[in-house]
Amino acid sequence: MTARATAGPRRLVRLVAVSDAQHPDLSALSRATVAVTAGRPERVQGGPVNPPVVLSSTYVSAGVPQPGELLYTRNGTETWQPFEQALGALEGARLPALVLGSGMAAIAATLSLLPAGARVVVPRHAYQMSLALVADLQERTGLRLTAVDIADTEAVLTAVRGTGDDGADGGRAAMLWVESPTNPMLEVADLPALVAGARAVGALVAVDNTFATPLGQRPLSHGADVVVHSVTKYLAGHSDVVLGAVLTDDTALHARLTAYRTLHGAIAGPWEVWLALRGLRTLALRVERSQANAATIAARLAAHPVVAEVRHPSLTTDPGHERATRLLDGYGSILGVRPHGGPDVADAVVRAVRLWLPATSLGGVESSLERRRRFPTESLTVPQDLLRLSVGIEDVEDLWADLDQALHAAASCAEHPGGSAAPA
Ligand code: PLP
Repeated sequence: MTARATAGPRRLVRLVAVSDAQHPDLSALSRATVAVTAGRPERVQGGPVNPPVVLSSTYVSAGVPQPGELLYTRNGTETWQPFEQALGALEGARLPALVLGSGMAAIAATLSLLPAGARVVVPRHAYQMSLALVADLQERTGLRLTAVDIADTEAVLTAVRGTGDDGADGGRAAMLWVESPTNPMLEVADLPALVAGARAVGALVAVDNTFATPLGQRPLSHGADVVVHSVTKYLAGHSDVVLGAVLTDDTALHARLTAYRTLHGAIAGPWEVWLALRGLRTLALRVERSQANAATIAARLAAHPVVAEVRHPSLTTDPGHERATRLLDGYGSILGVRPHGGPDVADAVVRAVRLWLPATSLGGVESSLERRRRFPTESLTVPQDLLRLSVGIEDVEDLWADLDQALHAAASCAEHPGGSAAPA
C-alpha cells in the first residue's frame, strides 16, 4: 500500500470538546491563562508552538466526502480552528466558536435563526448597524421589532412576553437581543434576570459581548443561547483586522450557524484569523491596562470644568455602577463624555487632540474618540454632544495631558469663535 492510501483523509474536526488530552485542562485555568494557552498545535518534537496559516482554497478530495472532511475553504479550514477553540474556551463554551468575516456577519447569522415574521426585542442603544440590520429585515421580511431600554429589566421582560399595553407586541418575542454595556450609552443589563425571564417564555437570548469581552462576562454561563462578537475590537485588539464570531452551546443552533456561514459565504480570511489569535494572546493584559486607564480618566473628567457629564460604570454616580460591580468583571474602557457647550465643542475636542486618534471603532491598543451623532444613522436618543472615547494602553498621564489640553482648547474656541481649536 502506498503512503497516500494508508494516511486516510485529513479531517476538519468540528464539534470537538474545547480542551483535549494533549493540552492542560483549560477549565481549571484562569481566563488570562486560557487566552495565552488555548488553540495551540499538538506538542510534538520540532513542531511549531503557533498554528500555521494554510493558504489553500481547496483540498485534495475524491469520492463522496466524509463528514468533517477538509474539502473547500468556504466550508471550513484548519486555519480557523485554533482561534475558534481558543475563543470557545474563553467564553466557557462547550463547542468551538464560529469565526465569520465581520461582527456584522455574526449578527446577520444570529438574526437568521429567526423565523419569518417573528418579533425581536432589541436595546434602543445597541450598535447602530445592528439596529439598521434589524430595521432592514423588518422592511424586507416582516421581522417585527420592539426597542427597549435594556437597563430596565421589567420593561424588557414585558416586551419579551408581549404583554405590554402598547398593543404593538402581537405575542411573545422569538428573540431577545442584548448588548451590555451598550454602544454608545454604556447601559448595563441585568443579564441573569433577562435570560431567566426570556427563556421562561421560550425566547432565544442572543448577547453581543463585544464591549464586555469574555473576561468581563460569559453570557453562556447565565444560560444565553448565542454570543456574538465583533472580533475587530478587543479580541483582535490592534485595529488591523475586521472579523466576527458567534458561539452557542446548542448543537442544532451551531449546525444552523455553520450552514449560514457556508451558504452566505460570510467567511474570514486566514491571515485575519491568525492575527486575531495573536491578538487574543494579550487580551488580559490589554484589557487590564485600558480599564485602569479608563477609570483614572473617568474620575478626572468628572471633576473637569469643561465637562458636563461622564459615563463610565466605574463611577459611583453612574447609573450602571451597582449592576456592573455585581455582574461584570471590570468596568470596561469605553467612556461617554458630554462637554459643556454642545456638539460644536464636542467636534472641537476631536479636532484638538494630538495623541488620541479621531476615528471610529474601539478596543484597539490606541486611544481614539469620536462624536457619535456625526453619523446620521446613530440612534436619535443618543445626545448630539456625546463623545465616545475608547481608552487604549498608552501611559495614562500622556493620555490625560492630551485630553485636558483638547478640552480647554475646545472650550476657549467656543468662547472666542474666531479662534482656532489647536493648542497653543
Ligand atoms: N457589535 C458592536 C457592539 C460593535 O461596536 C460593532 C462595531 O462597531 C459591531 C458589533 C460590528 O462589528 P464589525 O465592525 O466587526 O462588523
